[in-house]
Amino acid sequence: MLSPSGWPEVPCARCEARVAGLAWGALCPACAADRARRASRLASRISLPATLLVGLYVLWRVPPIPLARIYGVIAVLVTYIVVRKVVHRVALELLPR
Ligand SMILES: [Zn+2]
Repeated sequence: MLSPSGWPEVPCARCEARVAGLAWGALCPACAADRARRASRLASRISLPATLLVGLYVLWRVPPIPLARIYGVIAVLVTYIVVRKVVHRVALELLPR
């Protein structure tokens, strides 16, 4: 199978293993999975403390009204999801090869 650049096999940008169907400068599936795993680990290490901080803020600052508590719980969940996604995406772009 030819790569998008027309070459039969293109070396991985990180490990230099020749893989068919790879674009120039792209990572092989093993290196891409390793990079995604590192990004996911970093994302969870950053999003969990951020979620804890928002949870503490909601616990201390939101009045004990049921509807306000529900919105507080929603804010905590949204914080975890958004921070995790943003950190994962940024880490994929900025982590060294
Ligand atoms: Zn590789």
